[in-house]
Amino acid sequence: MTSGPGLNTDILDLSSRMIDSGVLEDEPNRITNELSEIGDGVALVESFSHMVLVRTSDGLVAFDSSAAMTGNRVVRAMRSWSGEPVNTLVYTHGHVDHIGGSRSLRADAAERGDAPIRVVAQENLAVRVARYQRTNGYNQAINLRQFGGLPPSLARDDSRMANSFVPADTLLPTVEYRQELTEQIGGLTFEHHHALGETDDHTWTWIPKHRMITAGDHLTWVFPNCGNPQKVQRYPLEWAQSLRAMAAKEAELLVPAHGLPIVGRERIAGVLDVVAQVLEQLVDDVLAAMNTGATLDDIVGSVTVAPEALALPFLRPIYDEPEFVINNIWRLYGGWWDGNPETLKPATRSAVAAEVVSLAGGADTLADRALALVESDTATDQDLRVACQLVEYAVAADPDSMRNHEVRMAVYTRRRKAERSLMAKGVFGAAVAESEIAVRGEATLKPTRITLSPED
Ligand SMILES: [Zn+2]
Repeated sequence: MTSGPGLNTDILDLSSRMIDSGVLEDEPNRITNELSEIGDGVALVESFSHMVLVRTSDGLVAFDSSAAMTGNRVVRAMRSWSGEPVNTLVYTHGHVDHIGGSRSLRADAAERGDAPIRVVAQENLAVRVARYQRTNGYNQAINLRQFGGLPPSLARDDSRMANSFVPADTLLPTVEYRQELTEQIGGLTFEHHHALGETDDHTWTWIPKHRMITAGDHLTWVFPNCGNPQKVQRYPLEWAQSLRAMAAKEAELLVPAHGLPIVGRERIAGVLDVVAQVLEQLVDDVLAAMNTGATLDDIVGSVTVAPEALALPFLRPIYDEPEFVINNIWRLYGGWWDGNPETLKPATRSAVAAEVVSLAGGADTLADRALALVESDTATDQDLRVACQLVEYAVAADPDSMRNHEVRMAVYTRRRKAERSLMAKGVFGAAVAESEIAVRGEATLKPTRITLSPED
């Protein structure tokens, strides 16, 4: 359905229907690299991540640039809609899927002979980019594991390790701010707000003329990416507070950096409230337990999110998941130690494995039991967790046994299948690939798809 010149409301209609009905009609995270005009002078290119465009009398204001690999397609989509120069690029935060495509914007501006693009970001973004340079190899390795399901050890021989995690020609901020920045661009007011949440450098922006908010990754149409096991600290309570600050603006249009835009004041307020509540409840429950002296093990076993919430089309735990967020809350308010004396200064895994294997009468006994657990039709989640630990002891005690690796492949293949989040699937997939390489010299596992499909 098209209403008005250039306006394409299909995406808004889909979003409204799914929120109002609670039924997942279609995958909300679509990497089509196609542009939809979603307001008068407001457009969205759906990508990995999105680019949001706002027309002003002094050129375009763009929010995010998508990733390095999608930047060219996103810029092409932008040019199919507007021939105006890009005045300002606002980074919602410094993740590479949001800043990596800026080199395509830079090339576009140079080719057209436009003035250099202003780049606005919260001041922590440049600090983040500097950190990525210091942890370049680590970031390449964990991305391989998170998205590819491939062992980080593989990255050592991979040519991509020589590359920079942040492309060298990425546009860096030319205007930095700390808490808030209000600016006038081409007759429009842009009110930028710093917010902690997924990162420490997030910006969400209120644009009064359109009664519109660009939300960055504060809303992504999946469970909040607030527990990622391989990343630095994240901030669930501050995330919720930012959502509440957005709700107070009574916006009519909220455009996230992933997933669908949301239209309508009440609908936006409702979604923001539900996501904020989930985060607040997790923090409250974890802190309440910590305050009674509970260990992390107790808390992971007892704190949950209501299944009805996780079934909502915008809260499915298919990327990050509540268990990882719980661990992250523990780290934020407590520390890295889980409160269990055996893990404060533990014996090496191989020393414990040798002892357990000797008590069991051999590595085969452990591997056999692990296999029996995962092959059972009635295997519970705990059975699968125990199977992983048993097979790790077997492999640690006898890493040259091909049979141990074969069992390990079977165990983690089963475990991966039982998981919903891309992050768990990625880590368990990497374990499968690692043992596959030990057995066959190569990994045949298909990478975890990054489309965030629930079938994955
Ligand atoms: Zn993102």
